[in-house]
Amino acid sequence: MNYNSISEIAQLGAKVLRLKAAAITDSQSTEIQQLIKTLLDTLASTQGVGIAAPQISESKQVIIIASRPSPRYPNAPLMEPTVMINPAYEALSDTTEKDWEGCLSIPGIRALVPRYKDIHITYSNEQGTLVEAKLEGFVARVFQHEFDHLEGKVYLDRVENNRDIVAESEYFKMVGVSSE
Ligand code: ZN
Repeated sequence: MNYNSISEIAQLGAKVLRLKAAAITDSQSTEIQQLIKTLLDTLASTQGVGIAAPQISESKQVIIIASRPSPRYPNAPLMEPTVMINPAYEALSDTTEKDWEGCLSIPGIRALVPRYKDIHITYSNEQGTLVEAKLEGFVARVFQHEFDHLEGKVYLDRVENNRDIVAESEYFKMVGVSSE
């Protein structure tokens, strides 16, 4: 059987979004493999470029990054959804840049968020193999956004000024698209 398993997205205010997620010790278990499938199916059902397990009310260290070009990020790489278990990162320099983010758990809002531009990451893939990579720009931003979810943080926590928060409808006008 190959039915989709789409979960509801936890919304801002849900306690699960404020917990520190538990490390995965049994990535090959049926439970975790099912969690990964639900995350993939749920992300595919949205316009999102990433999702973290706490967003489907599972406080576990699993994220998915799925960058693709958009009107705002025309140079964003098109990548297959990448499953990252127990992810970690370090900044390769202190350089940060501010750019727009949104979140499936905070609909209707966009904000400018400072993030490290270049990072080194490690994670286990869905087969349990340890992977290392360097990320930059948009993909590094998506990673840091999803990683924050595992720490019980949301992107609004990193906004430097309330004036950097806008309604999504105004954001779309600003970037010249009617909807996404
Ligand atoms: Zn998010």
